[in-house]
This record gives sequence, C-alpha cells and structure tokens, in this order.
Amino acid sequence: MDQYRIAPGTTVHLADHDPADESWCPDGKDGARSAAKKATRRLEELQELLYAQGRHRLLVVLQAMDTGGKDGVIRRVFEGVNPLGVKVASFKKPSPADLAHDYLWRIHPHVPGNGEIAIFNRSHYEDVLVVRVHSLVPPERWERRYDHINAFERLLADEGTTILKFFLHISRDEQAARLRSRLEDPAKQWKFAKGDLEERALWDDYVTAYEAALSRTSTAAAPWHVVPADKKWYRDFVIGRILVDALESLQMSFPPPADDLAGIVVE
Ligand code: ATP
Ligand code: MG
Repeated sequence: MDQYRIAPGTTVHLADHDPADESWCPDGKDGARSAAKKATRRLEELQELLYAQGRHRLLVVLQAMDTGGKDGVIRRVFEGVNPLGVKVASFKKPSPADLAHDYLWRIHPHVPGNGEIAIFNRSHYEDVLVVRVHSLVPPERWERRYDHINAFERLLADEGTTILKFFLHISRDEQAARLRSRLEDPAKQWKFAKGDLEERALWDDYVTAYEAALSRTSTAAAPWHVVPADKKWYRDFVIGRILVDALESLQMSFPPPADDLAGIVVE
C-alpha cells in the first residue's frame, strides 16, 4: 500500500518513478478494473459513515501536469459517492481579489468540515509550481512557501483533517498522445488550449518544481503519493485503494440513535 507514498525527507527524482508501472495489481487490467469498482463501492459506504459520524474530515489534493487525469479521477473514483458529502474545489488562475491577499487566502474556505470530503483539483501547490516555473513572484517569496504549506497542512491535520495528496505521474509521451487525441476528436477539442503547448515546452522546469514540492512537503500528516498515471485503469485502482485504506483506518462506526428507540413502532 505504501509503495507510492513518499516518506518524509525523501528526495524525489521523478525519473525513478515509472509512469507506466502496474506492478501493484497482479491480476492485470481486468483485475484492476474490478478491484477499482469494488473500491469505489466501498468508498461510497465509508463516505456515508464519515458523514453520519460527522467527526472526521478528508482532504484529497490532486496535482498533475496538463492532461494528467485529475478530472478522470474525480469522475471515476468518486463515481458512487453521495454528492451531498463531497465538494470539489478547482483552483484556476487567481482573481485580482485572490492576488490582493496571501496565496492561502483563497484556499482555506474550501477545506472540508466535519463529515465532509473535499477534493482539490489543483491547489495551493500551484503557488510553488506554475508560479515558480513562470517566476510570477521572486524566488525568495516562493522559497518560503514550502514551510508555510507544511505549517498550514499541519494545522489542518492537528484539527482533525486526514490529508492525502496525489501527484498523477504521466510521461511526456503520454501527454503528447492525450493532447493529440484532444486535437483530433471534435468532442474533446474544447479541452485543448494553445497554452497547453507552451506549458508542455516547459516540461523539464515543471519536473524540477514538482520534485522540489514532493521532496519538501511530503509529511507524516500530509503525505504525497506519486501515482503511475499513464494507464488510467491503474491510476484509478491505486487511488481508490489508498483512499479506502485511509478511511478504513479511521475505524468509524455509525453513531447511536439520538433517542431511545426501544418499543417505538411506526404505524
Ligand atoms: P484541464 O485539465 O481540464 O485543462 P485545468 O485544471 O488545467 O483543467 P485550466 O483552466 O486549463 O484548468 O487551467 C487552470 C490554470 O490555472 C492552470 O494553467 C494553472 O497552472 C493555473 N493556476 C492555478 N493556480 C494558479 C496560481 N496560484 N497562480 C497562477 N496560475 C495558476
Ligand atoms: Mg488545462
């Protein structure tokens, strides 16, 4: 289970992590698909428990290069989960109001409350990724952010939030294939932005920025997982299992009824 978890203090070299790895699922694609389905169903039950108990909070952070599959994970892994208990926050380019504040200002209102699951589709990590790659603030400013982020996440964890962070790791070739298929398929063309090619040209800079973020902000309270994501079925299987394991380990149970139900009959 811990195969893809980055132990605190590890220096991450993404070249050592195979984006096409499928070694954790001995039964191949079909086995992974059915295991992923099972995990999705179990997630549905666990989310209901989380909600009913109203004591724990779960924050899932998704980061990836463009076309890495964040949307696919949200769609598939959380397929059966009751929308009442899950909220997705997508962090795009900051607004002028966002930029007039510290970079965590727009993030904090979206963290999960008791009984909730929050999924961050991009996150505060953009402030040490795209911001670093494009020098949107001077290095001495983004350099301090790793410490802020660790402190922020420790605050959330200390107050009862389980935090799981996933980097969906695709290869440069897989990104090319996905961009090409967006270009060629009329039903996907809307997803294609010319800017994606400009970002793709900065691939190596993004790798450097991701390696720094993964190395410096994987903590016991908020671990990163580098998920092999070239194969969508494997990516969904891995994330589903990690989420189920994390929620199982909370050992939740349904709360007792609010009133004594003995002898009550509904006529
Ligand atoms: P898709 O994968 O469907 O394209 P997306 O998450 O890439 O979805 P876009 O609207 O294409 O969504 O891109 C959002 C953009 O906002 C990204 O390029 C991202 O780097 C940028 N962004 C997010 N947070 C920040 C930030 N704090 N500062 C600057 N840019 C940011
Ligand atoms: Mg995009």
